Amino acid sequence: MHPFVLATNNVNKLAEMQQITALLGWEEHLSWHTPQALGIRFEVAETATTYLGNARLKAHALRALLEQGFWVLADDSGLEVDALGGQPGVLSARFHLRSPGGDGCSALLQTLHAFPEKKQRSARFRCVLVVLSPQGEYVFEGVCGGHIASEKRGDRGFGFDPIFIPGGERRTFAEMSPEEKHSMSHRGMALQALIAWLGSSSSRTSC
Ligand code: IMP
Repeated sequence: MHPFVLATNNVNKLAEMQQITALLGWEEHLSWHTPQALGIRFEVAETATTYLGNARLKAHALRALLEQGFWVLADDSGLEVDALGGQPGVLSARFHLRSPGGDGCSALLQTLHAFPEKKQRSARFRCVLVVLSPQGEYVFEGVCGGHIASEKRGDRGFGFDPIFIPGGERRTFAEMSPEEKHSMSHRGMALQALIAWLGSSSSRTSC
């Protein structure tokens, strides 16, 4: 069993990690914990300019607060809109905070008003995972391409889910079941890569 502590206080991310692990049939092998559940106060300023930089900041800050025996997993992710030169990208979480009423979806739709065609609204979610195991640091990445919808649709998920339509789909992530979203999402792809790595060698012993 690999006991992972997630370097986040975001309950949506914890729920997604648990759901994806179960979907991949790894719930017997991985357990997820939050700093909060372990009684640890965890706050990190995400001051890096890349997903990898921020994920590493979070992972190492948490590592310093934990006893030996736990593995750390830090996730940094964001939405990259081509018409905006890849913004909000690494600033995605802050984009919501700075939008009126915290509604980043409406603010982004408003910004894209001048780009009505589907081909002008291409975007992708990206997720970078940093794992700190007793053996060292490992990095995994997942990407999900698609486009920005013309209006908010659906009430599932979180963040930009109501306005993101993955490639080959007509529905937004917020209109899909969690299983459907995870089968194609950036986080699903990144976690799949991590689990493939864990499964690829018997030398990756748990601690
Ligand atoms: P961070 O990784 O905690 O810095 O936050 C990334 C931000 O990107 C979130 O606050 C969301 O706005 C957005 N984001 C990342 N992944 C997803 C997703 O799966 N669905 C919707 N929004 C996401």
